Amino acid sequence: MRILIIEDEPRIRDFLTRAFKAEGFTPTPALDGHTGLRYAVSGEHDLVILDLLLPGLNGLEVLTEIRMHQPQLPVMILSARADLATRLRGFELGAVDYIAKPFSLDELLARTRVHLRRAGGLNGPLVIAVGGLTLDQASRQARMGDRVADLSEREFQLLRYLLTHVGEVISRERLLSEVWGYDFDPRSNVVDVCVRRIRRRLGSEVPIETVRNVGYRVAA
Ligand code: CA
Repeated sequence: MRILIIEDEPRIRDFLTRAFKAEGFTPTPALDGHTGLRYAVSGEHDLVILDLLLPGLNGLEVLTEIRMHQPQLPVMILSARADLATRLRGFELGAVDYIAKPFSLDELLARTRVHLRRAGGLNGPLVIAVGGLTLDQASRQARMGDRVADLSEREFQLLRYLLTHVGEVISRERLLSEVWGYDFDPRSNVVDVCVRRIRRRLGSEVPIETVRNVGYRVAA
């Protein structure tokens, strides 16, 4: 996943670049608004972290331009300007998030993963159907026979991950990192709890198999 970091303050830019690299992302730093915008419209990035007070074009101007050229590209604002009017203006212009400086790196990374997953969720077919189970990605509803369930965000992400990896055995650790996204204790049982909830809501015919001591599989 390629992250564009538009930030003029070297200390923060280097810190973010190192942090994203350490987490397995491919970060591209940009030092000013014009450079950042040029990179953003190249279509080579999956998400943008955008400072607002920048030399050249300011962040809101960059955001406006990005929306015109790359309407699907998620942009998270990271700014010391935390006043409500600026935050609202940012959302109005299409930012998916607004994080105030000083910020927590863990929270920034967690939110980045959430937005990347959401953006990824818009790709591919709107309705995924496997073995009598259908998942509507727009309404986040799952249907199995007569049963229909409005899924929570986590249930939806988990089911979507399994249904887009049909036939593969997916380990609990992989589900934790792909669906929960941040540093959950690998011994945590949140994955099993979530699968149990899905089975309870959709009935026992739901095609999720337990692979003992490993994880789960949706049979082809
Ligand atoms: Ca700045």
